[in-house]
Amino acid sequence: MTDALTYAELASEGATYELTWPETTRLDAMLWPIAVAASELLTSLQLSRLKKCAGCPWLFLDQSKNLSRRWCTMDDCGTHERIRRYANRRAARRRS
Ligand SMILES: [Zn+2]
Repeated sequence: MTDALTYAELASEGATYELTWPETTRLDAMLWPIAVAASELLTSLQLSRLKKCAGCPWLFLDQSKNLSRRWCTMDDCGTHERIRRYANRRAARRRS
């Protein structure tokens, strides 16, 4: 995080500024924007919306109105979960 801020520059972005980084050959430079974004998230109220996906190890921000989102993406983990539930219901019907 210290390196990220040491090498950061402020660039005008409309009415505000944003952090940018000059091109460099340092391999860890790719982590600088991620470190800054993580620190911004950890110090914001958005942190209460951070959830772990029910189908994989990924984290996501639940931006639904009722905070009911369970998966990182509906196309991947959500679909897999729906298929699993359907297969379980079908197997239960066969047993009964
Ligand atoms: Zn997932």
